[in-house]
Amino acid sequence: MSLGKILEYQEIDQKIYREEMNLRRSPEATRMGTLSGQLNSVQQNLMNLDKEAEALFREVNSSESKLNNLANDERVNFSASGVTALADADRIEKALNAHIEELNAIERDVKKSFKRLQDLSAEVNKQKRIYLNMQKEYGNLRADFNRNAEELRNKYRDLNDALNNLKKDIPPELLAAYKNLRDARKMPAFVPYENGSCAACGMRIIEIGAKLKNPGDTAECPNCRRILYLK
Ligand SMILES: [Zn+2]
Repeated sequence: MSLGKILEYQEIDQKIYREEMNLRRSPEATRMGTLSGQLNSVQQNLMNLDKEAEALFREVNSSESKLNNLANDERVNFSASGVTALADADRIEKALNAHIEELNAIERDVKKSFKRLQDLSAEVNKQKRIYLNMQKEYGNLRADFNRNAEELRNKYRDLNDALNNLKKDIPPELLAAYKNLRDARKMPAFVPYENGSCAACGMRIIEIGAKLKNPGDTAECPNCRRILYLK
């Protein structure tokens, strides 16, 4: 099988590939990668803050139930028990003190919860502002990046036309193998087998020589998976 066309295709495509790589490594693209990680982490922060707020609301609700229970506390219901002796007064005073202690403890808990909820609310607002700013920056960068990619497509329109013309004469399985390697960023995808080695990764693979007898024969490099061919 003649490899002339796919090699010609590869030679043209490599010019486009190199520019694509430059674009992917551009400062815009690098910053976008960083921002995308930061956006995820702020989102995680917001979810954690939300969970903490939910837990605090549950605590406040449970304090409210405790208050309702205390309001119905029989120990300090004077009219029901009836104060008839000094011993009763002593008992009621103790119950009253315990009751007040419990009320104070609940008040402290509720105050603490509300203070933390206020802090959480401030923190949520701060994180949201950070998120929106980063999102805006990301959007601007994405627009720049898309514009650069569009410029690249226009710049290489002729080369792309040439590639499309060549495609017709290339067996689909060769083209598919090429595309897979290109997607895996193994370029060039088709490399010569020279002096018993893969010209791309340098792996010495004498046994491949048995499969490559005539110019145009191909075999997969067992190390880097590129397609080796005999010149
Ligand atoms: Zn290799």
